[in-house]
Amino acid sequence: MSLRLYNTLTRHVEPFVPLQPGRVTLYTCGPTVYSYAHIGNFRTFLFEDLLRRWLEASGYAVFHVMNLTDVDDKTIAGAAAAGQPLRTYVQRYIDAFHEDRRYLRIKDASVYPRATDFIAPMIELVEGLLEKGVAYKGEDGSVYFAIARFPAYGRLSQLDKRQLKTGASERVSADDYAKEDARDFALWKAARPDDEAVGAVWDAPFGRGRPGWHLECSAMALELVRTHAGLDVLDIHAGGVDLIFPHHEDEIAQSCAFTGRELFARYWVHGEFLKIGGEKMSKRYGNVTTARDLREDGVDAGAIRLLMSQVHYRQRLDLTDEALASSREGSRRLGEFQNRLLAAAGDSDAAGFVEAAKRLERELAEALDDDLNAPRAVAALFAFASAGNAMLDAGEPAGSRALAAWRRAEGVLGVTSAVEVVKVGAAVEVDHASEAALTEVPPNGTDEEAHRSWAIRWAVRRKHAKAARDYGEADRIRALLRGAGWEVRDSRDGSIEVVRVGR
Ligand SMILES: [Zn+2]
Repeated sequence: MSLRLYNTLTRHVEPFVPLQPGRVTLYTCGPTVYSYAHIGNFRTFLFEDLLRRWLEASGYAVFHVMNLTDVDDKTIAGAAAAGQPLRTYVQRYIDAFHEDRRYLRIKDASVYPRATDFIAPMIELVEGLLEKGVAYKGEDGSVYFAIARFPAYGRLSQLDKRQLKTGASERVSADDYAKEDARDFALWKAARPDDEAVGAVWDAPFGRGRPGWHLECSAMALELVRTHAGLDVLDIHAGGVDLIFPHHEDEIAQSCAFTGRELFARYWVHGEFLKIGGEKMSKRYGNVTTARDLREDGVDAGAIRLLMSQVHYRQRLDLTDEALASSREGSRRLGEFQNRLLAAAGDSDAAGFVEAAKRLERELAEALDDDLNAPRAVAALFAFASAGNAMLDAGEPAGSRALAAWRRAEGVLGVTSAVEVVKVGAAVEVDHASEAALTEVPPNGTDEEAHRSWAIRWAVRRKHAKAARDYGEADRIRALLRGAGWEVRDSRDGSIEVVRVGR
């Protein structure tokens, strides 16, 4: 068995075979850096991260390109509103994007090209299309792609001509009078005073202006895949379903018309939307949760990755408070098992652990090879943790075999929360002078040690409240700790455990 992927181009699940043995070129459409990426965008980036990790775990060397759209209508409007040059304005959102994806444990792409660093290949692409006669200069000075001169247009989205017309004119209605056909899209937009004001214009043989969004991806993908792998066809192109039309359709038209190839990418893989309370998440609707909102709420990235993994990437996912709470709980259980396994792992494995390790490896491969069936892969991980807990309870030794299987699965899924346990001995003394100064608000900032010692002191105070049968106070302290990302538990031996559950 090897990887099979659903290809939007053929509407079938197909065996994945790359152009060059052992090597994969992967292009994923990246964020438009005009504001913070929302968690719906990250659902797409997380499914792509899973694809990337599974390809690598399967032995492929992956060349992964994720572009940063740093010039388009939105970034220009943002820069103008902020009174800053375009490059300055977008930098903070580029930094924020990398910060957010590192928090979510999304692996570094091989390269993150910025559109404004690839203007020369974009100009070259437009010139090539003009020479071939599939592009023309409109009355407004912009350069358009002539869809009527590219018969394969519409193959990816499988929309009929009437739908294509409606879809296209909705997006570019302002340009309609300058074009030969309402469906035609802009490759190069003639310079406007607004663009000049923020430095978003470049000189080109066909006129001063700036690239259209679709052109950016084609030019960067072709340029980077050519220099890296000597190819002009990608193995996999991925993105959200909202990009199928017109963005990916237009990328195909430009790229294939330019290279003369039948295909731009051999596998087109698309992730479904994330909804919040039944509504598609979008900045337009205001129901936006950013990755930083979740981080500030102390949600471990493992919990978010688990939430996303529990629904197949081609199905809609509804983000609710209940779903998030249960993912946090599940991810934490995995973290606790991981702690136990790491602490217990010795020289050899009991027969039961060897069996469980083999099963986990087999089930993980079967699930992910089957069009990235993450829900099944995650179920296998939980089954291993549950069997492992039972074996550890029974005193069965775990060794390197169990650990290797766990690391391989968790290394691909990344759904486990970091759980930190602080054990406080049975006899706990109270230093009354320092207890008087204990605040209800946890220490500010990133001083981990101060935060930990604050939590331990409250946990000790709770133990004394319980001993004094002041259960109301004990409950209040539990809630206080919970709010700060700690959970307190009483052990049978009379000691207390203070467990880090969030942050
Ligand atoms: Zn793109």
